[in-house]
Amino acid sequence: MHLAPLLVIQLLTSFGGCSGSSSFLDQAIELMEESPLLDTHIDLPQIIRSLNRRPLDAIPQLNSSFPGHVDIPRMRQGRLGGAFWTVWAPCYDVTGEDPGSDFNTPTNHLRDSMEMLDIIQNMIARHPEHLQYARSSTEVWSAFKAGKIASLIGMEGTHLLGNSLGALRLFAQLGVRYLTLTHTCHSAFASSAGPGGPIDPVHEGNALTQLGKELVRELNRVGILVDLSHTSDATMRQAIALSEAPVVWTHAGARALWDHPRNVPDDILRLIGDGPGKKDGVIQSIFFPPFIGPNPGANVSRVADHIEHIAGIVGKNRVGIASDFDGMYISVDGLEDASKYPNIVAELLSRGWTSEEMRGVMGGNLMRIMDEVDAVSERLRDQLPSSAIWEKRKDLPSIKWGGGGIQTYWPRDVKDAVEKMTVRHDEL
Ligand SMILES: [Zn+2]
Repeated sequence: MHLAPLLVIQLLTSFGGCSGSSSFLDQAIELMEESPLLDTHIDLPQIIRSLNRRPLDAIPQLNSSFPGHVDIPRMRQGRLGGAFWTVWAPCYDVTGEDPGSDFNTPTNHLRDSMEMLDIIQNMIARHPEHLQYARSSTEVWSAFKAGKIASLIGMEGTHLLGNSLGALRLFAQLGVRYLTLTHTCHSAFASSAGPGGPIDPVHEGNALTQLGKELVRELNRVGILVDLSHTSDATMRQAIALSEAPVVWTHAGARALWDHPRNVPDDILRLIGDGPGKKDGVIQSIFFPPFIGPNPGANVSRVADHIEHIAGIVGKNRVGIASDFDGMYISVDGLEDASKYPNIVAELLSRGWTSEEMRGVMGGNLMRIMDEVDAVSERLRDQLPSSAIWEKRKDLPSIKWGGGGIQTYWPRDVKDAVEKMTVRHDEL
């Protein structure tokens, strides 16, 4: 894609000289036309769902001005190479649902997740000249070379899974590429860092449950990236130790720079790398002012500080970019919406990052991790799916499914077998 001259003038004007000369911005734009910048967290699907009683009816409007931080014209102006669109629904406290202390009370999360995925599929289908579905690094490059914005799918929170590994396996088939182990609430799988401050632990060690450990293995097997954003520190440590594949933080910052539970502390960053006892991974730096700090006052330079701090521990080949656009009520000065991505690239160039290092930050580092995750999945392809269930479920085996009275669905021998069965839920 080549930028019309008018657009260049607008970008230069909006850059405002806050972090380097326009030559760095020229260099940034040139780089972004050669290599894709991948943003690992954009909440556009929730805006579509929030503004419309019939969400699919809003999708054509993405081609013009759309409320929020993101629409196609602004993504094009910002040279976005690819995005992970987020499948998400709010935690129980926001929806007013209570899953109970055993997480067994049904909620609408599974339906809502499927509808969010449907919105994403329809976004891509309705804008084929701009968006192209991608799952692998090869597919990202083929979308980019065709002049399209690579469209990947991330899923944010295991509260969305109906406590079921079967649901997870189907989301894998539907193209979900990463799964965040929690959102702001604990789930049957894992412990969360909470909505802004720690919340009371409900699981042993405030970490993964047995089913959560099984989930990490299953994510490795099906090739979904294990995302540790939003999780408790103990969940992060356990998942890093347990995962055979590299891990990711799809949208987080550095806690040493701004003390917020959503950021990654240095001692956990030190577990990421290629030395003894370390796991490969990538940390994608978020643009949300309350995590970046100060708030108000967070700017593009401050986001670069987080990237540089993290890179100082894990290496420049393990960092990346994640806006959280459309999922936040305020934004960073200089990174206000999807038209501003070149500013963060220019900022790092102005600090001496080389073009090669920037190709990595923009997307190369993440794509290397995606390839490694795919290689682990390939290695595990002969493993059977996990048969684990949420240990507190009381509906399995389905002893009521045969009906009753004159309405009996089971064959006689099945009925006899069920009647002789002693159903134990002694782990409850
Ligand atoms: Zn988030």
